[in-house]
Amino acid sequence: MRGGAPVRIVIVGNGMAGSRLVSELRARDRNQRITVFGAEAWQPYNRVLLSSMLTGAARAGDIRLIDPGWYTANDVDARLGAEVTGIDRERKVVFSADGDVTPYDRLVLATGSAPVVPPLPGLDADGVVAFRTIDDCQAILRHAETARSAVVVGGGLLGLEAARGLAGRGLRVTVVHVAGHLMDRQLDAEAGDVLQRTIAGLGVGTLVGARLTAAHTEHGRVTGVELDDGTVLPADLVVLACGVRPVTGLARAAGLTVDRGVVVDDRLRSVDDPFVHAIGECAQHQGNVYGLVAPAWEQAAILADVLTGGDARYTGSRLVTRLKAAGIELAAMGETGLGDDEAEVVRFTDPTRGTYKKVVIRGDRLVGAILLGETGTAGLLTQLYDRVAPLPADRLGLLFPGLSAATPADTPVRIPDAATVCDCNNVTKGRIRACWEAGAREVSAVAAQTRATTGCGGCRDAVEGILGWLDAQETVR
Ligand SMILES: Cc1cc2nc3c(=O)[nH]c(=O)nc-3n(C[C@H](O)[C@H](O)[C@H](O)COP(=O)(O)OP(=O)(O)OC[C@H]3O[C@@H](n4cnc5c(N)ncnc54)[C@H](O)[C@@H]3O)c2cc1C
Repeated sequence: MRGGAPVRIVIVGNGMAGSRLVSELRARDRNQRITVFGAEAWQPYNRVLLSSMLTGAARAGDIRLIDPGWYTANDVDARLGAEVTGIDRERKVVFSADGDVTPYDRLVLATGSAPVVPPLPGLDADGVVAFRTIDDCQAILRHAETARSAVVVGGGLLGLEAARGLAGRGLRVTVVHVAGHLMDRQLDAEAGDVLQRTIAGLGVGTLVGARLTAAHTEHGRVTGVELDDGTVLPADLVVLACGVRPVTGLARAAGLTVDRGVVVDDRLRSVDDPFVHAIGECAQHQGNVYGLVAPAWEQAAILADVLTGGDARYTGSRLVTRLKAAGIELAAMGETGLGDDEAEVVRFTDPTRGTYKKVVIRGDRLVGAILLGETGTAGLLTQLYDRVAPLPADRLGLLFPGLSAATPADTPVRIPDAATVCDCNNVTKGRIRACWEAGAREVSAVAAQTRATTGCGGCRDAVEGILGWLDAQETVR
């Protein structure tokens, strides 16, 4: 408080981290004066679900995170479509493109990332679109209406989701990926190869180890892409999914330490200025810049505590990646390379059925895993990985659900209350059980109370399973 006046908090960026911080702050304190600037004109939305927009399973309104009216009802000054253009740390004010000068007591940078657009000829043509925002998604859909063939540049999580979505709309799709195998940041080469076969079966062609050199254009419209070996692929839509870069221009210009992201301490505070914080994809903590939503939301909750006088500390996040593309089951976490002499690696592969499973164990702890084609033990592995818990002696049960009696099966019945069911929102089975005991019988009721299922949505079946099992228990009693 400034002489009794409410603390003024200004948040730059109203994406998944910034919007979550606003609601976490309001849930804790009704007096702080909160202003949030969002360069996008949309109400904050769940970026993770953009791929559902591409497949046609969702529309823009379906993926909204905060309802219109919420800001007024909660006395939050939300400036949508307003970009912050500068920060004066001495005067403690921010400047926005609408000409306003807004004072702060605490400033939070939640500016996220921007897609990497390689500096190559032709990539400014009509029909070349990045994949990051609702506007991008709508542009892709508009082009997809008339396009017959598409090239997706980048065979990571985003690129594959885009490719799958476009193939589902009947386009001929080729993914061009510079590394030697798909999803090389999460998978080993063998898993990448199995994945390549699987998506080929779903109508998506792939060229790995291939570098784009230019886009071909005619009258300002893209007609194809050229690769470093001279191959030309015709395309009337090119989707760029070749990486993201944290948005740090404001922080740099304000003289804050920026490496890959804005460097913050355990209180998510800039290492240079105790009145400036950073969260989400623009922040760098202990050398890590995270590119998934779970860490962004974890950081938002911790910072809300810090900004309301709590003593929470951020200690880093453990990452679990799931691919959300129809017809492909994939979960990956931690170290997935070959490991070293000290690592124990247990693997099963059946390429013709598109199955590849691997766990990497070090000092009797699960340090990495890949489940491709069949993810029945994903919940169990996530739980063991998250909690750095000792492993059962029989390793097979880690790969195949129910195979080993010694292994706790990945079913609602046997997972412990402490197990995390929703990774994005860090919701345990125990919290879901508590909701059920308090009367919640539908997934939507549990979601309203805990936010489980509202991130990537990958835990929906598990939550449904737990509720169904609790219902059945009640009937038996
Ligand atoms: C298609 C797609 C699929 C994804 N799938 C998954 C997934 O399955 N699982 C997962 O965990 N993650 C996924 N992600 C990643 C996830 O969306 C991000 O990790 C998350 O959005 C990061 O949140 P953020 O708030 O840091 O950044 P963002 O959500 O990008 O928000 C940053 C916001 O800040 C705004 N901004 C920037 N500069 C300014 C300024 N100067 N003034 C005002 N506003 C500004 C931007 O316009 C943007 O709206 C996916 C991302 C995409 C694009």
